[in-house]
Amino acid sequence: MDLRSEYPFWLLDKGIIHSYPSLQNDIRTDVVIMGAGISGALAAWHLCNAGFKTVVVDKRHVGMGSTAASTALLQYEIDVPLRELIEKRGEKDAVRSYLLCLKAIDDLENICGQWAEAGFNRRPSLQFASYKKDVAALKQEYTLRKQCGIDLQWLDKNAINDKFGFEKDAALLSSDAAEVKAYSLTHALLHRCRQLGVEVYDHTAISHFGENQRGVHLVTDEGKKIKARKLVIACGYESAQFIPQKVQTLHSTYAIVSEAGNTDHFWYRNALIWETARPYLYLRTTGDNRVLIGGRDDDFSSPYLRDRALPTKAKALEHAFRRLFPAIHFRTDFQWAGTFASTRDGLPYIGSLPGKPHTYFALGLGGNGITFSIIAAQIITRLALGLQDDDARLFGFERG
Ligand SMILES: Cc1cc2nc3c(=O)[nH]c(=O)nc-3n(C[C@H](O)[C@H](O)[C@H](O)COP(=O)(O)OP(=O)(O)OC[C@H]3O[C@@H](n4cnc5c(N)ncnc54)[C@H](O)[C@@H]3O)c2cc1C
Repeated sequence: MDLRSEYPFWLLDKGIIHSYPSLQNDIRTDVVIMGAGISGALAAWHLCNAGFKTVVVDKRHVGMGSTAASTALLQYEIDVPLRELIEKRGEKDAVRSYLLCLKAIDDLENICGQWAEAGFNRRPSLQFASYKKDVAALKQEYTLRKQCGIDLQWLDKNAINDKFGFEKDAALLSSDAAEVKAYSLTHALLHRCRQLGVEVYDHTAISHFGENQRGVHLVTDEGKKIKARKLVIACGYESAQFIPQKVQTLHSTYAIVSEAGNTDHFWYRNALIWETARPYLYLRTTGDNRVLIGGRDDDFSSPYLRDRALPTKAKALEHAFRRLFPAIHFRTDFQWAGTFASTRDGLPYIGSLPGKPHTYFALGLGGNGITFSIIAAQIITRLALGLQDDDARLFGFERG
């Protein structure tokens, strides 16, 4: 599957941070993880710290799938607003899902907050009403989120203007969000995992796998065999081929990043910014004083159409930025496109398929893919330890 256009900013910026050998012999381990993107790296980190002998294999180089393209905003706010999620999943599960995302940001800070290369920065998050007609629903969202203890403020027109300098009727300003460099973080995690004894293999494609009562067995495209007690499938959007039911819908998404400026202050606390419209526009800043804008998604997932649309989409994103912040100089330095998956309820799929208890999926689908990857790593580790996990039910395949 062609997951992204060739040159996402992060990859050009950092290049191949580490490369690993391919697997050249048969091996046995406790847990094997298929996929060395952010989901596989976080799973490896949690599993090795829980005492499992862990092996990670990837058919590409580490982090070269969707992770290299990720704009990496970390938000507890999922693509489906809380009020809609309550309708779809009931109040208890919807609120728990939001609170787990909130906690995931703190948990990631605890893991990598001190690793400069991971680029983890706490930020507030602003969601503005794209149109006057969205204000009432946003107010309802504010009340519901407040009721479950989320720290946020209601901003009216004047407050938005004071803090951000643009004209919108209303917005929610949440205290808890962050930004990260997903590609660098993935490398940092796996590099440290290696120091803890995890084996990492690049260019090792799994061509088939299965499980029996004792565990799992995998075969690489070069015929090497891996036996393990547990398998974690962290193949991102390419995981769908291993799941009998349809769990994801693919889209195309676009991002641009400006040339580096000579200020590190762009707007109020360099908050993450997004909106109520669907598809939504979103903005963040980077540690080297750039502004990053993403969105203008399309419903198709053809890589040809996606990459062909990129120059037009880049112009549209630039235009959208200038309408919001006419006073901030913006010249596009890099532009890229990626395939992107959503689910019906905006939540990820985590856990096993019926009858396959040794194979876990870590599928962080949706706009909060990275936040979901943290939750997936935690749930899968608890399941692998044989512990009861009440949250696993929220993201299981049984929900259809
Ligand atoms: C443009 C863009 C912007 C985004 N912005 C955000 C954002 O702001 N915030 C956020 O939280 N999320 C965002 N996402 C989503 C997020 O990036 C993804 O959820 C995340 O990167 C997925 O990571 P992953 O490790 O699951 O998948 P990937 O990074 O795709 O990794 C999966 C790996 O599995 C490997 N693999 C596949 N099949 C096999 C096989 N048979 N054998 C061995 N290896 C295999 C692949 O080579 C790949 O390296 C964005 C995505 C895109 C494209």
